[in-house]
Amino acid sequence: MTARAAVFRGVGLPFDLVEFPLPRPRGMQILVEVIACTLCGSDLHSIHGRRAVPTPSVLGHEILGRVVAFGPEAARVDQAGQPLALGDRVTWSLVASCGECFYCCRDLPQKCERGFKYGHEALQPGRELSGGLADHCLLVAGTAIFRVPDEVPDEVACPASCATATVAAAIEAGDKVADRAVLVLGAGMLGMTAAAWCRALWAKDVIVCDHDAERLATAAAEFGATATCAPSGLADVVRERTGGRGVDLALELSGAPESVTAALPLLRTGGTLVLVGSVFPSAPIAVVPERLVRGCVTMRGVHNYAPWHLALGLEFLAGHPEFPFGRLVAPWRPLADLNALVASGPPVGSLRIGIRPVV
Ligand SMILES: [Zn+2]
Ligand SMILES: [Zn+2]
Repeated sequence: MTARAAVFRGVGLPFDLVEFPLPRPRGMQILVEVIACTLCGSDLHSIHGRRAVPTPSVLGHEILGRVVAFGPEAARVDQAGQPLALGDRVTWSLVASCGECFYCCRDLPQKCERGFKYGHEALQPGRELSGGLADHCLLVAGTAIFRVPDEVPDEVACPASCATATVAAAIEAGDKVADRAVLVLGAGMLGMTAAAWCRALWAKDVIVCDHDAERLATAAAEFGATATCAPSGLADVVRERTGGRGVDLALELSGAPESVTAALPLLRTGGTLVLVGSVFPSAPIAVVPERLVRGCVTMRGVHNYAPWHLALGLEFLAGHPEFPFGRLVAPWRPLADLNALVASGPPVGSLRIGIRPVV
C-alpha cells in the first residue's frame, strides 16, 4: 500500500506527486486519510519565497481527516474526552507537543522545544506524511486531536486548525470583547473569522479595514462587520465610531507593517493591539515609547495557538452556522491541480484554495 503526497522542493519549483509507503501507525500514532486541506496565507508565503520553510517537505496545515488506523497505544478518546473511532472525522493541533519542556510548562505548547509542526517539517524516512497536501497524514504522539462535530461541513471545518484556532488565541490575548469597539485589520480568512466571532461575543462595534472592497462588502453583509473602510479612511472611521477615543481592541491580521503603525494611535487609552499577521520578515516599524506609556497600551504578539483554542474554534463554528464560512473556500480540486492553483491563487471571491486529495 502506498500514499501519495505533493512534495514541495523549493521556491519556483513545481510540486512533485510522490508515492510513499503507507505507514502502519506505531505506539501512540494515528493514521488519517486526508479528507481536505485548505492552503493558508502562510503556505502561500512559503511557496512564493516570502518566508523560509525546510525542503523537501509536505506543506498544508489546515487539514481535515478521517481516522483509518490506530497505533497499539493510541488513545481511543479525543482531546476533549470524546470517544474516537475508526472513520471519525477529525482535526488536530498544528503542533504536536511534548507536554514537559520549558515552553510546554509555560502554556506555550505551540513553541514546544521538541514540537512537530504539521506542514512545516523536512521529509524524514517513515515520517513523510506530515502535511495536508497528501492523501494520508500520520499523527504523532503529542498531537491534540479533536472529533469534528457532525453538523460542521468539511469546507467550514478545514481551516479550523490554523485560521479559526489562531483567531481564538488572538481574541483571548485581547481580553474583553463584549460591548467593546474592535478594529480588525485585514479581511482575509482570519479577519472574517475575527469579525464574526467578535460580533458573536457581543462586541458593540466591529470595524474591518482592508484594501479589497469586495472583501469589505462580504465582511459587512455576512461576517458581522458594523463598519468597514479602506486604510486611507481608517482614522476617520475610528474617530467617528468611538467618539474620538479610539478602539478598545485592535487585531492586526494582515501582517503589513504600515497597518501596525496605523493601528497604534487608534487605540483608546488602556487599549490593546494584538499582532498576528506578521509571520514573515518585514521592515521595522517606528514606535514612540511615550505613546505606549502614557496611553497605557498593551501590544502583544500571538503565534499559532494551544489545543484549547482549537476546541474553542470548533465550538464557535458548530454554534454559528449563520456565518457562511464554507463560501470562503474555493470549490475542492484534486492534488493533481495543485501547481496550477498556486500559480493562480484562490479564485475571485474565495479566500482559500481547497484540495480534496481523494476524490
Ligand atoms: Zn514541549
Ligand atoms: Zn496557517
